[in-house]
Amino acid sequence: MDFLSRLARGISPYTAGEQLNDKRYVKLNTNENPYPPSPAAERVLREFDASRLRLYPAPNADGLREAIAHAEGVAAENVFCGNGSDEVLALCFPAFFDGDGDGACFADVTYSFYEVFARFFGIPFATVPLRDRFYLDLSAMRSAKCRGYFIANPNAPTGVGIPLRETEAFVASVPDKIVVMDEAYMDFFGQSCVPLVKKYPNLLVVKTFSKSYSLAGMRCGYAIGDRDLIAGLFRMKDCFNSYPVDALCQAVCAAAIGDAEYHERAVALVEEERERLRGELLALGFTVPESKANFLFASHPERGGGEIYARLKEEGVLVRHWEKDFLRDFCRITVGTPEQDDVLIEKLKKILS
Ligand SMILES: *Cc1c(COP(=O)(O)O)cnc(C)c1O
Repeated sequence: MDFLSRLARGISPYTAGEQLNDKRYVKLNTNENPYPPSPAAERVLREFDASRLRLYPAPNADGLREAIAHAEGVAAENVFCGNGSDEVLALCFPAFFDGDGDGACFADVTYSFYEVFARFFGIPFATVPLRDRFYLDLSAMRSAKCRGYFIANPNAPTGVGIPLRETEAFVASVPDKIVVMDEAYMDFFGQSCVPLVKKYPNLLVVKTFSKSYSLAGMRCGYAIGDRDLIAGLFRMKDCFNSYPVDALCQAVCAAAIGDAEYHERAVALVEEERERLRGELLALGFTVPESKANFLFASHPERGGGEIYARLKEEGVLVRHWEKDFLRDFCRITVGTPEQDDVLIEKLKKILS
């Protein structure tokens, strides 16, 4: 007797990057921020009254939603919080798509969780190939038959960003379709579609505390959009988990998003280091598309991505590699501190010599 469902037997789950958190590795494989979270967030964490954990947290994370709304320039009714933006993205599938309707559309090379979620929720989907290897083909996406889109901007794992002007034109051109804009890395691009949600009721922007706020271990993400879209997400949350964001997480994330000054400085350090590291990689002969995220997507004309990944791992540096289609030529390298990146460069020089 096989007790597993057809779904559980058949689905290919998302594969997260290796979490080898021992000190032996310079860890540049899962796009974590190399800098600590805001001191304001750290203080809340240190001073948190453990007796509060006796009680359930605010089910809709109201205090945190207020803090996010304030920082993002919207109303709290336009904000939804989840246990990581992965959970928010997951809930978008049952909230906005039907199993027997026109499905979701996304790029063939993008955040691979979209396809896993679509299969998990039984939502049909169509993929659109990137153009010129690295670029989202918005005009091809526009004419795809679908009910809505998932767009990672900047895209993963290429790091390529679409300027606001183009994303707005796209959203405006598909008024009957929902556009879920996954802005996990947008802070490193210094812009956002959030101000557009007032103008476009078909736009939902999803953001996370994991990358630019250095809080990947806290698990919190959020969506900003028209109140009807947000209400749909709340309906789905309350069918699945009433308390997805724990009390400590709500308090810490509210403090982090309130410390705009620290956030800006940490983001600027990563952006500056990204440009330096890209220069070093180009000098070593790598092909590296311009990145607007906190990682670089690099291939070398003489060495396969798998070989570079494996040799770096032997040398104590972890990067990300996929054994799939054109991705196999590349490694995705998270921007670290200058010291971490110097180790990477030194090891790459050794490997290439
Ligand atoms: C990291 C990432 C997320 C999700 O991060 P959470 O830690 O679940 O908030 C979402 N989308 C993309 C494209 C990402 O790279």
